[in-house]
Amino acid sequence: KIRVRYAPSPTGHLHIGNARTAIFNYLFARHNKGKFIIRIEDTDTKRNVEDGERSQLENLKWLGLDWDEGPDVGGDFGPYRQSERRELYEQYIQQLMDQGLAYESYKTEEELAADREAQKARKEMPHYEYEYAGMSEDERNQAIADAKAKGLKPVIRFRVPKDKVYEWDDIVKGHVAFNSDSIGGDWVIAKRDGMPTYNFAVVVDDHLMEISHVFRGDDHVANTPKQLMIYDALGWEAPQFGHMSLIISKDTGKKLSKRDETVLQFIEQYRSLGYLPDAMFNFIVLLGWSPVGEEEIFTKKEFIKMYDETRLSKSPATFDQDKLEWLNNRYVKKADGSVITHLALQQLIEAGNMPANPDAKTLEWARQLIMLYKDQMSYMGQINEMASVFFDEPDEVTGEAWDEINNDTAPVVLKDFADRIQKLDVFDAIEILGAIKAVQQETGIKGRKLWMPLRIATTHEMHGPGLPESIELIGRDVAVKHINQTLA
Ligand code: GLU
Repeated sequence: KIRVRYAPSPTGHLHIGNARTAIFNYLFARHNKGKFIIRIEDTDTKRNVEDGERSQLENLKWLGLDWDEGPDVGGDFGPYRQSERRELYEQYIQQLMDQGLAYESYKTEEELAADREAQKARKEMPHYEYEYAGMSEDERNQAIADAKAKGLKPVIRFRVPKDKVYEWDDIVKGHVAFNSDSIGGDWVIAKRDGMPTYNFAVVVDDHLMEISHVFRGDDHVANTPKQLMIYDALGWEAPQFGHMSLIISKDTGKKLSKRDETVLQFIEQYRSLGYLPDAMFNFIVLLGWSPVGEEEIFTKKEFIKMYDETRLSKSPATFDQDKLEWLNNRYVKKADGSVITHLALQQLIEAGNMPANPDAKTLEWARQLIMLYKDQMSYMGQINEMASVFFDEPDEVTGEAWDEINNDTAPVVLKDFADRIQKLDVFDAIEILGAIKAVQQETGIKGRKLWMPLRIATTHEMHGPGLPESIELIGRDVAVKHINQTLA
């Protein structure tokens, strides 16, 4: 039975790397007709942020994911929040203590810090130094009683077996092995407040929730031997693991850093800029996984059908912003006009370029405007920037653009065109095109010398979508005003 989970910690918004983990687990579950489960790992109470869980789930839904079990939908293996599972963890911690496989440790944070300093001076790897070394059982009981009398609170440490190899066949990385002596000594399974640590809780949960496969980021590889120790100690079978390669930035060649503000990394950010969720889903699937063949654009359904976990890449995935824009543009181009209009309209309203409740005429104007730019957009937020000439006073005409209109022929074209459009009965793209052709006939000026001055004078840009359509949307009065300003 295939059961996989995505286990976010509600410490912030959904990061693109975590979204990828969720998606690969989801595809694996759906491809194999298994179950996809969401579990909230909220034991690190200091790092939890308010609303973290809601935001995680909402963004997963936005990406088109659904789950069979989770904190919001329930299921037979709940609760699905670690903070609500404390009794379960306590029971197994007690079991390990009773078996002598775990113990109370009273070393204070100061003592631990001093140990680390001394280790550093001796050029040793940081590790926990057993506090009851060389003590008889009586002496040890006495030390514990003394610590308790002082009011000290213990952590619980797992007694790490000496010189034992923990190994597994990783679905992505192949065979991986760790010697128990290399992991830094007896590690903490429960904190002073009684909360289990991640490496302990995750084992109890994955076991009780009957998780069959764990796909997660490469950054967890060093945790896996610790988790295997717990499976061993409790006599449980471990799931299969697959650790997915890092995501590196194409620009820096380094691991994507949440602090790097030049790269958008949170799904929320893409969402509010008006990216299309299906395009984002497609883009993320290609981060560290590849389909057979050259084609890269597929629907979610197609991905589910062809998903094959053995095609997860060992080498790092490159986050390529240009590819992201290209792929999103492909989706925008083929998307339904009404979907695009709806989303882009929201962006126009949010930016204050449209009233919140536009009347029918304004709405139709906006629809035409959005359609004019549709094929150029990667995300809807771009409409504000691309179509700024329709909302803001245009920038001064300078440089190259100025050269295009600062000549003998441009004023002739502009003047004739302005005269003609003022006389038009109907002011639409067809009539405007007719006027441009009439100017050409009348003046004999054609090509770049005809079109460039018209475009620059009306839009102050050298490039843009269809000129007659643009001038129609700019409106007669504004077009004439801009032309007159240019001629002045
Ligand atoms: N809560 C962990 C994280 O956010 C999950 C790790 C795991 O999948 O075991 O990275």
